Amino acid sequence: MTVDIFQNTILCKKCSVKMNPLQVIKNGFEMRAIECPKCNEKIIHPSDEQEFNNFVNLKNKEFNVKMRFVGNSYAVSIPREIVNFMQHQQKIMDDMVKLCFEDFGKISLRFNEHGGIKR
Ligand SMILES: [Zn+2]
Repeated sequence: MTVDIFQNTILCKKCSVKMNPLQVIKNGFEMRAIECPKCNEKIIHPSDEQEFNNFVNLKNKEFNVKMRFVGNSYAVSIPREIVNFMQHQQKIMDDMVKLCFEDFGKISLRFNEHGGIKR
C-alpha cells in the first residue's frame, strides 16, 4: 500500500505555512493540487500532472477515421486510445454522448455531460 503524498502536511518552502488542497482545472482536466495561502504558490499532484501530459499528447494527435453508412446514419469510429484514456480517468463512462454541429465543417462530441472526473 502506498500513501498518497498529498495526505501529508506540506509546507510552502518560501513561507513555511501549511499548503491547502484545491482542484485545478486545465482544458477540462481536473487535477489535485495544494496552494500556499500566503503567496498562492501551487503544486500540482505529480501523478495528475503526468496524466495531464498524457492527455496533452493525445489531444495534439490527429486521427484519420472513415465514415461508414449504418442504417440511416453515418458512423465514425472513435480511436480506442482516446476512449481508453477517458475510461481510465472517469472509471465509469456513459455510452450516451452529446453530438453537436458546432461550426460549419466541425462536429463535436460531449462525453461526461456532468463534467469533471469521478475518482
Ligand atoms: Zn508561500
